Amino acid sequence: MSKPTLKVGITGGIGSGKTTICRIFETLGIPVYFADERAKKLMTEDAKIRAGLTEIFGEKAYLPDSNLDRKHLASVVFKDKEKLRALEGVVHPAVHRDGEEWHRAQQNVPYTLREAALLVENGSYKKLDKLIVVFAPEETRIRRVMQRDGAERAAVEARIKAQLPDAEKMKVSDFVIYNDGEQSLIRQVLQVHRVLSNRDL
Ligand code: ATP
Repeated sequence: MSKPTLKVGITGGIGSGKTTICRIFETLGIPVYFADERAKKLMTEDAKIRAGLTEIFGEKAYLPDSNLDRKHLASVVFKDKEKLRALEGVVHPAVHRDGEEWHRAQQNVPYTLREAALLVENGSYKKLDKLIVVFAPEETRIRRVMQRDGAERAAVEARIKAQLPDAEKMKVSDFVIYNDGEQSLIRQVLQVHRVLSNRDL
């Protein structure tokens, strides 16, 4: 009997290199669910989420062109923790269900990856079989994000401060991939891939 496809999470702080590393896994044939990207899409396209968000934020949740008014929502939840929780209560379960459905549809692969910035913070890593944490030194992350997004140093630093420290994420991880520019990424990905494929866990 074939083994069930494992659900593996991959997370890490802003600019740690999650997306870059997932692209390497994809070249090995591993399907990746980019949860944050998918959540953005569902917030615009999924009828249930639209109804839920309109109930919480009123008609202002969406722009006249029917896209989500991200700026408005961000400014409201920044000041109102209860609204933030309500938003998460609508979006997280829907994205989780969507991710489960997607996972079930992946055939003949040893495991799938779910990439998300928040997997440890919200406890959702507990629903996964294994967890990979991507680590990069803070200064490297700041430099990479400033370059990628044209962002100010202070803005990147503020986002890093708002996230759970890497050490906390690493405590609950099964694998750590060091994206510090010194250790070979490909070698580390291949090593994790080999373990997850052979299941000598
Ligand atoms: P976010 O949390 O913001 O989505 P992320 O963890 O997905 O970020 P990436 O987008 O993969 O991180 O990487 C951040 C930036 O750093 C990108 O521009 C990427 O090309 C670059 N980068 C990632 N890893 C390396 C590396 N080893 N060497 C050079 N540049 C890198």
